[in-house]
Amino acid sequence: MFIIKLAKDVERYLQKQRLKGNIIGFVPTMGALHRGHLSLIEASKKENSITVCSIFINPAQFNDSEDFQKYPVTLDKDIYELEKTGCEVLFLPSVSEIYPDGVEGNVPVYDLGYLETILEGKYRPGHFQGVCRVMDRLMHIIDPHHLYLGQKDYQQCMVITKLLSLIDARARIHVCTTLREPDGLAMSSRNMRLNEEERKLATGLYESLTFIKQNIQPGPLSNLLKEARKILEQKKLVPDYIEIATVDTLSLLDDWDGQTKIIALIAAFMGNVRLIDNMILPFNFAGNEN
Ligand code: AMP
Repeated sequence: MFIIKLAKDVERYLQKQRLKGNIIGFVPTMGALHRGHLSLIEASKKENSITVCSIFINPAQFNDSEDFQKYPVTLDKDIYELEKTGCEVLFLPSVSEIYPDGVEGNVPVYDLGYLETILEGKYRPGHFQGVCRVMDRLMHIIDPHHLYLGQKDYQQCMVITKLLSLIDARARIHVCTTLREPDGLAMSSRNMRLNEEERKLATGLYESLTFIKQNIQPGPLSNLLKEARKILEQKKLVPDYIEIATVDTLSLLDDWDGQTKIIALIAAFMGNVRLIDNMILPFNFAGNEN
């Protein structure tokens, strides 16, 4: 695996690959890699001749400085895992490589509309602008044919889809399923920050989503959401939100018609660690056998 730190070097390398007719898949990450990340690398490897992974903890997308400072870093292990998975290129830029004018300088504004006003957009002001800023820069540097993202960050997938149309990027987006621990907890770099007790209780997110999936009925959703919130609270999770929304536009629903494709989404704190998860719910309601 090539480890490349400068934008101009990775650009030059990938330009040569493109001229040879090689197809480029890209997996952007913030490192502290787990099997969820590696499943994205594997998906890219199946469909592309060159897979590029980036590791960059993007200061522009953290609205909480403690979250940024405590973000886990396991670079040696990440490099080992990427090598083992067969990733061809690791792009490992510094902050000045991504933001030559500084993080505070030359800040663009992306028109994300409604998407930025709900869920993560509402609870993490500025977060998606920061995500778009780094992705805009990375997409210009890597210019991949295919981009691999995780469903775990469902709203982020929608934001990046919107960004690609705003910046006329040609990459095709592939949304990959969420990898979970055996007890259901979605894999996340932030799980490393949980102590033993918190780690056990953090399964409440999955349990709450599963409860919604098993009990959803057409009609008003408020009682179901109330019960699902209780499951979180019993596990000492403090929710920012617990919502059901349409899959295609993320319109938040109070009522479900039993036909529209929907998703349940949760963000909750376990101690100081903020966790998110989601689950796509049964389509075309036919009882709760799903
Ligand atoms: P991050 O390093 O958290 O920015 O994540 C990098 C990419 O990995 C994003 O597209 C995430 O959605 C994806 N990802 C994170 N956790 C998982 C998971 N448990 N399963 C699959 N993909 C994931």
